[in-house]
Amino acid sequence: MSKATTHEFQAETKKLLDIVINSLYTERNVFIRELISNGADALEKYRHESLTRDQEDLFDSHVPLEISIDLDEENKELTITDTGIGMTGEELVANLGTIAHSGSNSFLADLAEAARKDVSLIGQFGVGFYSAFMAGSKVRVQSRSWDGTEGHEWVSDGTGSFEISECPGLHRGTKIIISLKEGCEDYAKKWKVESIIKQYSSFVPFPIKLEGDTVNTVQALWARNKSEISDDEYLEFYKFIANAADDPLYRLHFSTDAPLSINSLLFVPKENFEIMGFGRVSPGVNLYCQRILIDQHSESILPEWLRFLKGVVDSEDLPLNISRQALQDNALVAKIRRVLTKRFLKFLAEEAKKDEEAYLKFWETFGIYLKEGVASDFEYRTELGKLLRFESSKSKESTPVGLDEYLLRMSPDQEEIYYINGSSRAAIEAGPYVEMFRKKDIEIIYTTEPIDDFVLSHLAEYEGKKFVSADRADLSLEDKSESKEEEQEKSAQQLDDKKSEELISWLKKTLNEKVADVSISSRLVESPAMIVNPDGYMTSSMERVMAVGRMEKGLTGEISKKNLEINTANTLICRLAELIDSDEMFAAEVALQIYDNAMIQAGLSVDPQEMVERNYRILQKAVD
Ligand code: ADP
Repeated sequence: MSKATTHEFQAETKKLLDIVINSLYTERNVFIRELISNGADALEKYRHESLTRDQEDLFDSHVPLEISIDLDEENKELTITDTGIGMTGEELVANLGTIAHSGSNSFLADLAEAARKDVSLIGQFGVGFYSAFMAGSKVRVQSRSWDGTEGHEWVSDGTGSFEISECPGLHRGTKIIISLKEGCEDYAKKWKVESIIKQYSSFVPFPIKLEGDTVNTVQALWARNKSEISDDEYLEFYKFIANAADDPLYRLHFSTDAPLSINSLLFVPKENFEIMGFGRVSPGVNLYCQRILIDQHSESILPEWLRFLKGVVDSEDLPLNISRQALQDNALVAKIRRVLTKRFLKFLAEEAKKDEEAYLKFWETFGIYLKEGVASDFEYRTELGKLLRFESSKSKESTPVGLDEYLLRMSPDQEEIYYINGSSRAAIEAGPYVEMFRKKDIEIIYTTEPIDDFVLSHLAEYEGKKFVSADRADLSLEDKSESKEEEQEKSAQQLDDKKSEELISWLKKTLNEKVADVSISSRLVESPAMIVNPDGYMTSSMERVMAVGRMEKGLTGEISKKNLEINTANTLICRLAELIDSDEMFAAEVALQIYDNAMIQAGLSVDPQEMVERNYRILQKAVD
């Protein structure tokens, strides 16, 4: 036997090991789950190889696919053996010396944070193999690859380095021998290990033999008849596949035979780890064919924006030996994806109908993914539109409403659905854009997230009604039925036409550098002025988001010139018209300040220094 070689762990691995060894001891039980799950993955991979290759190419092809656990109380040892795909010497170094999934510092930071907040979250990160050191003072891994090359042994105490040496005479697969730490001796006791397997691993699709006795029930829950499955079984299964500690928010068990054969079991979890700041989640649905896993965390079987779902999809129509690559552009997979997506969206709509309050919980947690769906996937626009929720001028505070509800309330001659973006309900309601809507009792949707305006502009219309942002220059709320007296009454308080004309042309001249146009507003009620967008497609909010994006790339954050609308019935504007004759310099300061104020109300930025200095000059004048 050749000499052992010593290897340093990658720096990130050392940090991970440090967290595993020093912070996660309260959740020690999960190490058994993690190692069993690695064994099951290795078995799935072997099964997949065996389907695509000649039997002669496979080493030990007669060995049954299973996981065995052996205990040695006297020597305080726990051994987990699988007959899966195994690892070559190089694979041992690469896989058990580095962090496979992300290897990034942000993963570690997230993990450390989760460990601090709530250790039960750890399970969802899948610390994987390294969890062996939660209970082990020394870990030995003996492995032989399916290709039959001689096996190797990996040994480490989890501190700085590991050793690799040749280890002849092994069967195919991987054996992990854990020397238990002080205080962890129970993991060599049968009752203890059995209870952990029952808790975490009962749905592993291979026999788990504990000292010779099979302790799990190998079954594919999703392929069974719905009526025969209890809530508890579903719950256990969910906990198993999602590594979750609590109940799911929703569950959909959907099966069909024609035109496609699909058995699927989808769960919506309780928490959204992405909005909790844990980085992008990877898809949580596994693809099976005839109960054999062909694509774990499948990127192909559902659209990307449904990555928050957990579960399984099984279709007998798929070829068993299909590669991951081929899945991506397989027409059948695309068909299944479409059917499943539509079914899931329909399910959500049904749930919303049944219990809107529960749906709003879902919306609060996962609504952002549906918005992503609208913005990225044209195909499901109609279904997704139904599921959107927004606050509006007629919704209760913090109780968003659906577009159907909006349509139901609107008057028969209203042709468009209106919305306006702002940082909050209060900010929007204090601003100029909603004044005319309030006066005319027209409902307006409040979009308070930066993505919202992109979502609505992608959606473009709902049930034949176009979405129109209230900061559009060409917005018209002209009411055909408006009486002549009202017109008359309005004009009584206004600047007369001639004065208005003069004011407009003076403002155009004075604000020439800043605005594209100045006009008399037909929709301001109280406020003196407002900013509107000459480009009908772009809203102020969208422009702001894009400007920030450009600035992050080191480009200019400048935005296009806007139109200013003024309210000639507002006293400040009336007085400004007079001020031009008596003190034009001061009038110009006031005009600039009105412009800046309107920009701020539009959520657009102004030069703060210039604005503050001017503001002080105006205040000085007021106190003098
Ligand atoms: P993950 O399972 O999340 O990829 P792990 O740290 O648990 O991360 O494992 C790293 C890699 O080591 C796995 O991706 C796999 O390639 C390999 N590995 C771990 N356990 C086994 C095993 N029992 N048999 C074969 N390969 C394994």
